[in-house]
Amino acid sequence: MFIIFDPIITPRDDGDKDPLGQMATDEFLKRYWSDPAYAGPRHELVPKMRQDAEGEAVCGTGRSSLAIDPYGNIYPCVQWRRKVANIEELTSLSGIWRTSPVLVEVRQTAVDMADKLREMHVKGQSGGFCNFCLGVADLQTGDPLSYYAQAAKNAEYRMQAYEAWKEKTGETLEEDGGILSKCGM
Ligand code: SF4
Repeated sequence: MFIIFDPIITPRDDGDKDPLGQMATDEFLKRYWSDPAYAGPRHELVPKMRQDAEGEAVCGTGRSSLAIDPYGNIYPCVQWRRKVANIEELTSLSGIWRTSPVLVEVRQTAVDMADKLREMHVKGQSGGFCNFCLGVADLQTGDPLSYYAQAAKNAEYRMQAYEAWKEKTGETLEEDGGILSKCGM
């Protein structure tokens, strides 16, 4: 059995932010990212930083996935509800896959966000430790490129845990292959 723990709580698809009240406390998040007792659910002994190459996307939205809701509306992924089309209007899925302006835009936005996180990392900020969701950013702030509070908080605690481990062991994970597998839902 494979269990994954994700500390991010998302708003409802209609934008209702009530579920955010269930978010883990700062105290728990700090402990989660630094305590070896949670290494199993995290699938990493120590938080690792992103290793995105230039031009790489932050995740697989509209690139390795599509999502379809019960009404036949097609989206780039489960979280980013930018309507691409409706299956009833389609003659071919491969046609919109190649030509949809929405998909072209979300794919580019995903690359722009990876660039932004990399720039933050170069400046010593927490972007290199961020598991970023464009859909959550869009829902929470209205801007898919906005470094929303939950992403920033988790990235900051991940970075702190990594720095503490580095100081304690004298080792680094900079060439380790990077952060968890990217979301492609
Ligand atoms: S990280 Fe968010 S925007 Fe990207 S594929 Fe996953 S759910 Fe979609």
